[in-house]
Amino acid sequence: MSTGWETIIGLEIHAQLSTETKIFCGCSARFGDQPNENTCPVCLGLPGALPVLNRRALVLGARAALALGLHINPQSIFARKNYFYPDLPKGYQISQYDQPFSANGELEIMTAERDEAGHPIEWRPKKIKITRLHLEEDAGKNVHEGLPDVDRYSYIDLNRAGVPLAEIVTEPDFRSSWEAYDYVNQVRRSLQWVGASEADMEKGNLRCEANVSVRRIGDEKFGTKVELKNLNSVRFMQRAIEFEVARHISVLESGGRLVQETRLWDDRKNETRTMRLKEEANDYRYFPEPDLPPVIVSPEFIAEVRSTMPELPEDRRKRFIGQYGLTFADASQLTSERSLADYYENAAEESGNPRATANWIRSELLRELETADLSAAASKVSARDLGALVRLIDEEKISGKQGKDVLVEMFKTGKSAQFIIEEQGLVQVSDVSEIDQLIDDVMNANPQQLANYRAGKETLFGFFVGQVIKASKGKANPKVVNERLRAKLQV
Ligand SMILES: [Zn+2]
Repeated sequence: MSTGWETIIGLEIHAQLSTETKIFCGCSARFGDQPNENTCPVCLGLPGALPVLNRRALVLGARAALALGLHINPQSIFARKNYFYPDLPKGYQISQYDQPFSANGELEIMTAERDEAGHPIEWRPKKIKITRLHLEEDAGKNVHEGLPDVDRYSYIDLNRAGVPLAEIVTEPDFRSSWEAYDYVNQVRRSLQWVGASEADMEKGNLRCEANVSVRRIGDEKFGTKVELKNLNSVRFMQRAIEFEVARHISVLESGGRLVQETRLWDDRKNETRTMRLKEEANDYRYFPEPDLPPVIVSPEFIAEVRSTMPELPEDRRKRFIGQYGLTFADASQLTSERSLADYYENAAEESGNPRATANWIRSELLRELETADLSAAASKVSARDLGALVRLIDEEKISGKQGKDVLVEMFKTGKSAQFIIEEQGLVQVSDVSEIDQLIDDVMNANPQQLANYRAGKETLFGFFVGQVIKASKGKANPKVVNERLRAKLQV
């Protein structure tokens, strides 16, 4: 990329709050039902129908706001955002405007640029200012595919109309596509963590838009900004931003001019294209929704919501590092999901060895879970059983190598480590005379290597360890093998 340019990115996230019913009526908010099955006069926008705020949406909105470090306003107001679109039967969306539900947040994210292979280079903290989180209803959906005569008709499914959303808007604080990427992932995790939203981009219950511009380093004025939509995954968003930044710089460096517009990401072509030129700002003619009273939030309400929230992911990551001596990478991965963090703490308590437990989960269990496409909560190996396995290895009842096979068996059968060890007659051989015998056999079978080792080729030590372990069928205690080999090879 050309140097001398600075990238400016702001993000908007729409997250569907995990309520059973819609925000202003009692219709189900379920995804995937028959088209228009979940509708009523309120969400169809029939004249005379009156909205009533769903209290659960308020509670989940508060959880989301607190999880992202926002201040909840004592009073907020619903407003009508007027525009015409076929999926919006009322002709306006009930949203919030100048008095949002919550504002002035600051979220510390961990972020890193990536190398060519996509690996993080160096993690560092960065504070992102969140301008606001407000509540609003979703619109319906126009369907242009998979139905008869779609060349002549558009279809409208209003099941989604009135589903509660939290819109989360940041300041233009991001300076690279990877910062934006890391932020969205952290917001997703936080919302899932506190149960505010499923935040699943594939299901469409988390959508994001990016405002992107560039300016010469040192300039104060922002460049012309482009809004990116249709970003169906966090990875697509990152690639779309990267594409736009390169396009802006190349247009500007060749003396061209950018226009303010909305562009879509086309994943097949790996490029963005114009969706529409920006209409005039402020043409929504917002005004307060006369059918809904102001939302009054008391300090008691906030305290009550807070008291039911779990320890937040960032706090928990820091605690894992401090309390258990984990590395940043270990602690980050183990707090990537709440169920995994719970699993880890239970397993570590059982094993009495938090660091070894972290290693076993990261290197062995997660691979099995990934292959089986399961979450830690759904694992056949309970946290207690995994902890017990780590303890048996620590106590040298079985070797680490045997432990790996035992874990695979535990994962297949759901049996405990102790049970499998007894069933298969697994024991770690630590008996010195037995191991000495194995070493003698190996030395006799490899006279050339032995001569070379004694002549100074010390790298052959590993070869002898491997041969002895192999001869024991993996049962020999590696520590004893090492000690005895050192002694016997010297002779
Ligand atoms: Zn309804």
